Amino acid sequence: MTKDQLIKRIKAHRKARKLWCIIWMISFFVSLIAYVWFLEYFGDLGIGYLIISVILLFALLLGHVLFIIWVVKKRFKKYGLECPNCKKPIYASLAQIAVATGKCGECGATII
Ligand SMILES: [Zn+2]
Repeated sequence: MTKDQLIKRIKAHRKARKLWCIIWMISFFVSLIAYVWFLEYFGDLGIGYLIISVILLFALLLGHVLFIIWVVKKRFKKYGLECPNCKKPIYASLAQIAVATGKCGECGATII
């Protein structure tokens, strides 16, 4: 990979990140609205309802966290922004180090 290719990949990754942030925000708010709808629709049915609503809320939040982790890992692989040696994502300060030196900021392996 050349320096120009690395810079292009970093820019493409940033662009894709913005799109995924919008998609995630929409999906998060839609699921929150669905959760509130669930609470309103089923009303107060006692302690069982409370337990189900708390479990549902944690599942919703955990699902979103797992979704974000999955998307971020997939995106780094897709754009080839992983160190071939240590598999750390080439991102933020590591990307700056890689562009400046041509080496991974974590393990020192040659990237460019
Ligand atoms: Zn590395």
